[in-house]
Amino acid sequence: MRGRVTVQVFRMDSTGAASVYDWSTTHMLFAADSVYDMMNYWAYMASLRNVPLSFTANFKDPFSHYTRSTVPTRTNYEPINNSPNDAYLWVNDALSLHGYGASPITFTNVWEKNEEFNAAALSSSGGPYDHAFSIYLVSNFRADGTAGPGAFNGASYGAFVPVLGGTAQIVALNAAGFGLNYLWFVLRHETGHNFWACDEYLAGCLSCGPCASNGPRPSVLNANCAAGPTAGDGYQTLCSVPRVECVMTNTSTENICTFTMQKIGW
Ligand SMILES: [Zn+2]
Repeated sequence: MRGRVTVQVFRMDSTGAASVYDWSTTHMLFAADSVYDMMNYWAYMASLRNVPLSFTANFKDPFSHYTRSTVPTRTNYEPINNSPNDAYLWVNDALSLHGYGASPITFTNVWEKNEEFNAAALSSSGGPYDHAFSIYLVSNFRADGTAGPGAFNGASYGAFVPVLGGTAQIVALNAAGFGLNYLWFVLRHETGHNFWACDEYLAGCLSCGPCASNGPRPSVLNANCAAGPTAGDGYQTLCSVPRVECVMTNTSTENICTFTMQKIGW
């Protein structure tokens, strides 16, 4: 994770019969601020380590000439009510708006189109950029402000990357029910995944061995993984290294462990 990064941001809203959850103007702005908070976090952490890193946010939602304001990107699906595996269905609605709709609409085709969309963004306004990825934000708040489910249908999580090292992340406003103030923590954790960092929390990882065999640094260990027993001295007995808090372990810590740094190329 280094160089100049452009981030394509979508705030996705269900429309028509499928609509259960909505975006308020407040949430539109709060989500944008959270994206900036995420970018500032990674840029600052990089600066402490003399890694050149900067971000540009491109908000891709349409402007309504009727309301004279930016409105969410519409989809006929209610994202949080769908399985994570089916996210490609509504992501395709966002990509179609920008000329990158898939045909036929299949899992593989849509995520390939998302890669194409981000490859094109490398030379977009303000570029050239070294990296590009998309954030698809979804609301799980009702119009009256009450919260819906924190996780996607059939899943235990409200944020994920469809492909490790890929150019998409999908994040619900109230991911896992932690609340809006937690949103930027979730965004910075998921951004780690876009740059090949692996999960380190219990159940998120299974071993201390390499975790991204198809990535650019396949031999890097995931030695801060919480799998297996931890000795009383805090040493992870499987990995034989002291376990530390990490942005890929506990999203509310700002610390980045040495293994995560290796995975993202720092
Ligand atoms: Zn994760």
